[in-house]
Amino acid sequence: MKCRHLLAGVCLSVLLTAAAELCTAAADGAPAELESTASSQSQEQADAPLLTPLGIFTTTGYCPCESCSGRWGRLTSTGVLACAGHTAAVDPQVIPYGSRLMINGTIYTAEDCGGGVNGNHIDIFYSTHEECRVHGTQTAEVYLVQQAAAQDAAPSPLS
Ligand SMILES: [Zn+2]
Repeated sequence: MKCRHLLAGVCLSVLLTAAAELCTAAADGAPAELESTASSQSQEQADAPLLTPLGIFTTTGYCPCESCSGRWGRLTSTGVLACAGHTAAVDPQVIPYGSRLMINGTIYTAEDCGGGVNGNHIDIFYSTHEECRVHGTQTAEVYLVQQAAAQDAAPSPLS
């Protein structure tokens, strides 16, 4: 659970640096990308994202309700609106904002922080408090997701 006002000063400093990003655009883009990767078997190796294990993290859930997010609602510390299945709150000193993280098979974007999110702890955004309650406190192996460089450069294994 979050208590954002504890770090409000830190969070506010980056609050206005990012323009509000449409949640739906991000949500629509990611699954389509994953789907096409999964369905094109011949491309599977070239398009496979690079997964770097970050270790075991404690994961909890938070939602826009007052007890989780106070007066912030869905507004994240990076200025974008939090989106279920997409937004994760991290300790930015452990995981930089903008990192894409795979947790239990879902790819989240690190774009929020919280006073209760320190060290190896990730707070996952849910739409409802009931889902947070169901999530409870878990531990999960977290992977940093990076695009394989092969996607940009033409394959030239001999040069
Ligand atoms: Zn809540």
